[in-house]
Amino acid sequence: MSDLTSLLLERIASDGPMSLADYMALCLMHPEYGYYTSRDPLGGQGDFTTAPEVSQMFGELIGLSLAQNWLDQGAPSRFTLAELGPGRGTLMADVLRVGRQVPGFVEAADVLLVEMSPVLRSRQKEVLAGHDPRWVDQVSDLPDGPLWCVANEFFDALPIRQFQRAGRGWCERRVGARDGALTLGLAGETPQEALAHRLEDTSEGDIVELCPSLPGIVAELGGRIARHGGAALIVDYGDWGSLGDTFQALSGHSPVDPFATPGQADLTAHVDFEAIARAAPCAHSRLSTQGAFLERLGITQRAQALANVMSDAQLEQHIAAHRRLTHPDEMGTLFKVLGLMPRGGIVWPGLAQ
Ligand code: SAH
Repeated sequence: MSDLTSLLLERIASDGPMSLADYMALCLMHPEYGYYTSRDPLGGQGDFTTAPEVSQMFGELIGLSLAQNWLDQGAPSRFTLAELGPGRGTLMADVLRVGRQVPGFVEAADVLLVEMSPVLRSRQKEVLAGHDPRWVDQVSDLPDGPLWCVANEFFDALPIRQFQRAGRGWCERRVGARDGALTLGLAGETPQEALAHRLEDTSEGDIVELCPSLPGIVAELGGRIARHGGAALIVDYGDWGSLGDTFQALSGHSPVDPFATPGQADLTAHVDFEAIARAAPCAHSRLSTQGAFLERLGITQRAQALANVMSDAQLEQHIAAHRRLTHPDEMGTLFKVLGLMPRGGIVWPGLAQ
């Protein structure tokens, strides 16, 4: 039995069953045994691959989109360019490389990375050497000024709670123990203030998910954007409103039982973009699919330009990467993009109505 399993069983024995959010937080971020704290989970050898790791085109188009938005807001001479959960630093490196094509953008940017994992911080330090990045543990530690920000596959890692509808109340799904193993059980029915609006669009027995840390994070980002200008681009798998159990564990690129190997598998849930929009104290764009967003920004033209200097295996890999990022059977439809921006009609390329 792993050390983290013993620790979880001890805690359940003394305090009773815990919420999925507490379980996720311990599995992902425990200082010693946490999934993110102890490894680099990305890439072919790891557990999952993200869009910036699939192709440089993803970060390039996002970089140009952020830089255009910065121009459209008067190109302030100093701003925070932040990334939440930067992984290996690939996306930020691509943003900064392409950003050089927009005069003044990179020079005006203070690069800030919100990252809790020491292992990933050191990867980011290598990849972004020369850009003098700084790190903070949480979004509330970002400077209070103009903020342009990107988050790809960050919100899906935030701990969620799950509730099952029972009449006008909700039963929480909680992690308990049976015969020395972790199991999921159902607590008694209680009203949930935060789910009051979900009584209108759910039926008996439906499962909904709630991300307790999401409103605070969005308020921090949106507050800076509303007060000082800027924008945030949030890319993740999920949809408008949460319905059903989307809690999942991945190990070696395959789904596994989320309770079998705590701290050894990536745990995520789909992102509820409606919850982000509700929590934002600034304006938000429409929700777009990743495929449509990248197409509107010109990924096909960029793919063709890159293809002109490629051949053989490299070209095949490049064509597969384009398909992977945009095709509805791959990441194109499951992944969505939402922009946060100041009120007052900023038209965002790729996210305009
Ligand atoms: N954005 C990257 C990596 C996604 S993996 C990419 O697209 O490749 C999720 C990232 O979020 C990792 O860097 C992880 O360490 C970080 N992370 C997860 N939860 C976090 C939290 N609560 N606070 C700060 N960083 C977190």
